[in-house]
Amino acid sequence: MLIVGGGVIGLTVAHAALTRGLGVEVVDAGPDRCSASRGNAGQVAPGHPPVPSPSVPPRALQMLLDPRSPLSIPPRPSLPLLRWLLAFRAACRPSAYERSMRVLGAFGVLSRDCLDRLVSDLGSAAPGMAAGVADIWNTPRGEAEAEAETAWMQRLGFATEHLDGAALRRQDPAWGPGVRGACVHADGLSFDPAAFCDALRLCISDAGGRFRSRFKMKTLRRDSTGWTARAASGAVASGQRLIVAAGVWSAPIVAPLGVNLRIQAAKGYHVHVTLPTRPRMAGVLRERKIAVTPLGTGVRLAGTLELSGINHRLVPHRIEQLTRGAAEFLPQVGAATPTDHWCGLRPCTANGLPVVGRLPARDAWVATGHGMMGLTLAAGTAELLVSDMLGGPIPPWAQDLRPLSR
Ligand SMILES: Cc1cc2nc3c(=O)[nH]c(=O)nc-3n(C[C@H](O)[C@H](O)[C@H](O)COP(=O)(O)OP(=O)(O)OC[C@H]3O[C@@H](n4cnc5c(N)ncnc54)[C@H](O)[C@@H]3O)c2cc1C
Repeated sequence: MLIVGGGVIGLTVAHAALTRGLGVEVVDAGPDRCSASRGNAGQVAPGHPPVPSPSVPPRALQMLLDPRSPLSIPPRPSLPLLRWLLAFRAACRPSAYERSMRVLGAFGVLSRDCLDRLVSDLGSAAPGMAAGVADIWNTPRGEAEAEAETAWMQRLGFATEHLDGAALRRQDPAWGPGVRGACVHADGLSFDPAAFCDALRLCISDAGGRFRSRFKMKTLRRDSTGWTARAASGAVASGQRLIVAAGVWSAPIVAPLGVNLRIQAAKGYHVHVTLPTRPRMAGVLRERKIAVTPLGTGVRLAGTLELSGINHRLVPHRIEQLTRGAAEFLPQVGAATPTDHWCGLRPCTANGLPVVGRLPARDAWVATGHGMMGLTLAAGTAELLVSDMLGGPIPPWAQDLRPLSR
């Protein structure tokens, strides 16, 4: 099997294929820090809602005008962006939101179960994991929003625990006095995403798979034996089956294979802050939409959603937004010097659902569009794809993930 793209999606598919006895060759344009999979917030949060939701349209204009808002859409003349925004608007309807919630809920359960097995396969190579992810608020409005989402998650079967600010601080003294409460999602967990990708690569090569970095696929060809990818350098890789898992770069690869992917690159940032007392559990700061993940000597702060196309330009005030927003919840952040500035591109579909399934071209599949949830849904994605390849059953809800032919 030939896999184009060695981010967390391509790597988990490679691992799942090897465990079913299929040969695997993964090609990746890196190494560099561009892959979203290496610098993300490292939170596995099954059951969380899609980005398009009924609460977005009434607040969109205010968010776009507020310099502290995590959302930014720098004006640019782009028909694909306009079409994407219109489709996003349609996906915010309550009926579309409910449907996406149900699909993501079932997908989250499958992914959580598959991740447990994957982590046990990685054995001692797996990174250290912190249990739980908390949704944390500092305003009554944040609390009301969190309660509504939590009610949904409970209906989908996910365990949650409500804590007021004092109870949270008793468990985790790093949180400041401004924090009013939190909802702890017991199904969540967090870890260093780059270490997870490295462990997967190790496990893949131990199982006889091949990972080739510095292989930027330029052309694809199919003949009677299967698929051949050629890089600009002239290097060649091949496999009977093809999987395209190239994140935001997937659309031009699958276009000649019969599918127009409507994906926008949503840029997010992270910084690292060393703290004398770091929170034990990962969390998301609801009002600021900032993910806080304990890593190494401190925390990774990650967030912002910038629809500015495919580029890795770091905008300094967006980085400051992360530290300023986090300091409202973690006072120690205000006095710390952030390091390790990074940005990466989330592959976002307009309806908030990934695209996972068979392409019209023979023996070809795609897995991308995971947006904010790539780490969370990677293991379930791999299970769905490999099961489909081997003629296994596909759950009915996964029909909503299938790529639409032109
Ligand atoms: C700031 C931030 C925080 C996030 N936090 C979380 C989180 O806490 N939890 C979560 O679940 N998700 C999170 N995400 C989302 C998650 O990171 C993505 O959904 C996920 O990494 C997407 O994985 P991918 O493998 O599809 O894409 P990528 O990781 O981008 O990998 C695609 C790979 O394809 C390769 N490639 C591209 N073109 C070619 C080509 N022509 N030839 C060969 N190789 C090619 C690239 O080199 C790249 O390595 C976050 C994202 C960001 C930006």
